[in-house]
Amino acid sequence: MAFRKKFAPRRKFCRFCADAELALDYKRPDILRDFITERGKIVARRITGTCAKHQRALTTEIKRARQMALLFYTSAHSSEVKKKTNI
Ligand SMILES: [Zn+2]
Repeated sequence: MAFRKKFAPRRKFCRFCADAELALDYKRPDILRDFITERGKIVARRITGTCAKHQRALTTEIKRARQMALLFYTSAHSSEVKKKTNI
């Protein structure tokens, strides 16, 4: 089969619905970091599987975290990327 997928498709689920303990908060950049790309972009819902309600909240919290300098706006400001690329 020419179009066989390499990996078996896994059911996506909303991490925030599945785990009520998982706080959606700008003060938790470690969690928010899972939902942004290496370049600092917010990852689309269709990719992460986050539900509409939580994606909306997530977007707000990521933007808050950026303003508080807990997350970066772009990879140029990321200390991790700087370390990797040795800028
Ligand atoms: Zn949800």
